[in-house]
Amino acid sequence: MITIALSKGRIFDETVPLLKAAGIVTREDPEASRKLIIATNRRDVRVVIVRATDVPTYVQFGGADLGVAGKDVLDEHGGAGLYQPLDLRIARCRMMVAVRKDFDYATAVRQGARLKVATKYVRVAREHFAAKGVHVDLIKLYGSMELAPLTGLADAIVDLVSTGGTLKANGLVAVEEVGQISSRLVVNQAALKLKRAALQPLIDTFARAVG
Ligand code: ATP
Ligand code: MG
Repeated sequence: MITIALSKGRIFDETVPLLKAAGIVTREDPEASRKLIIATNRRDVRVVIVRATDVPTYVQFGGADLGVAGKDVLDEHGGAGLYQPLDLRIARCRMMVAVRKDFDYATAVRQGARLKVATKYVRVAREHFAAKGVHVDLIKLYGSMELAPLTGLADAIVDLVSTGGTLKANGLVAVEEVGQISSRLVVNQAALKLKRAALQPLIDTFARAVG
């Protein structure tokens, strides 16, 4: 059995066409059904639905052989036990530093002020500001990051931005790019050795589908 870990929403939706290209058709839509294990047209392939941040953990410990996870999530996880053969170029966005539009970020940084930064991506944010030599106090959040600068919880946030619509709707502006984000195929390192005959053709088909 090959188990593929996916998260609901954009990752599932954008992975389905890649699976189709590999001849794998999911039998159910996770948005409609409450099932967490989804069968496919192939009796030896199933999809499990997990939280986006849990995909690397499932694959690392062998709860799934393969998975699709954002670079944001993989950087935060650290990638231990994972082989990352492929950038699938789906779910693309940018990780950005954003502040209230009346906050003078450039001056605060230049003056060496200690910045309060709220984010779901504590590890990535810590490395980003350390590399710039900017002192930060990090505040871990799990969602609704845009609210932090509006309530005085933080001076800045580090979050994913695609159109910028959410930032704009909340009076925030992106001031710095932390990195480009897309989703990657991840493979359990032990599974790749033990199930190579089954997994390698799948990885190759994904590679061709991505182009
Ligand atoms: P939830 O939003 O339910 O808390 P989540 O944020 O973990 O869950 P998604 O919002 O579906 O899950 O994000 C999953 C992945 O998709 C992220 O890890 C990231 O790689 C990518 N992603 C997130 N936001 C965007 C976006 N605005 N545009 C493109 N890709 C995105
Ligand atoms: Mg989200």
